[in-house]
Amino acid sequence: MEKLNGPEVRFEEISKSYDGGLSLAVDTVDLAIAGGSFVALVGESGSGKSTLLKTVNRLVEPTAGRVLIGGDPVAGHRPDSLRRHIGYVFQNIGLFPHMTVGENIGIIPRLSGQPSGERIAELLDLVGLPADFTHRMPGELSGGEQQRVGVARALAGEPGLMLMDEPFGALDPVTRDQLGEAYRGLHDRLGLTTIMVTHDMAEALLLADRILVMSAGRAVADGTPEQMLSDAANEEASALIAVPRRQMAKLRALEKGA
Ligand code: ADP
Ligand code: MG
Repeated sequence: MEKLNGPEVRFEEISKSYDGGLSLAVDTVDLAIAGGSFVALVGESGSGKSTLLKTVNRLVEPTAGRVLIGGDPVAGHRPDSLRRHIGYVFQNIGLFPHMTVGENIGIIPRLSGQPSGERIAELLDLVGLPADFTHRMPGELSGGEQQRVGVARALAGEPGLMLMDEPFGALDPVTRDQLGEAYRGLHDRLGLTTIMVTHDMAEALLLADRILVMSAGRAVADGTPEQMLSDAANEEASALIAVPRRQMAKLRALEKGA
């Protein structure tokens, strides 16, 4: 797969309230994500991360504002066509259990043309799985392998943009770390734009170019990992960083004692 030139994603004053609700799930988020960048959306549960992410592929329609991909408003595109061209990976990816791995990966390209065995092998190789996995059933795979297949399926439509919602959240820490690193490599090699939701600040610090902290529907902090770690980081960002900091301090203390 050649380099894809991931597009810019622009959120223009996006707000979303559910059921005419009193509180806003997303409250006037206004920012642009540069093409080719890897951005993490971080924040407590319920802070609006998933809602904001889903406005990009129209799984959620904003109450106000608009989203543009490469300068083009998503509202002008049919949701099914958008979803064919934007990769989407979420926790417990939900492979179709009665279809082989190859059929699961092929389901997206089949909409626009038939996927060759060679192409499926290429996609499996991209996510670090052997070609003979194509004949396996999802139930015969580990959680990490299933998520890899999910990433392969998301890449099958050759998207320039990947939306990831806690993609590795259900995996053990070691697998999670491996997959995160492997995915970051893919992002760079393919020239993707990636927006990844995670509640884990450590994961965001290690993987992303830029971190957006959400709280009560608003983007309350925005910066590079280095900026997040600096003393100037705001209260919300500092609170999220306190956890990995404390863990690191404890490990250091244990190492010294060992
Ligand atoms: P996060 O991904 O940061 O955990 P969400 O975007 O899922 O947050 O949710 C933000 C807020 O919107 C929460 O208060 C949540 O309860 C509410 N919410 C999310 N999805 C729906 C929905 N489909 N219907 C009603 N409320 C929702
Ligand atoms: Mg969520």
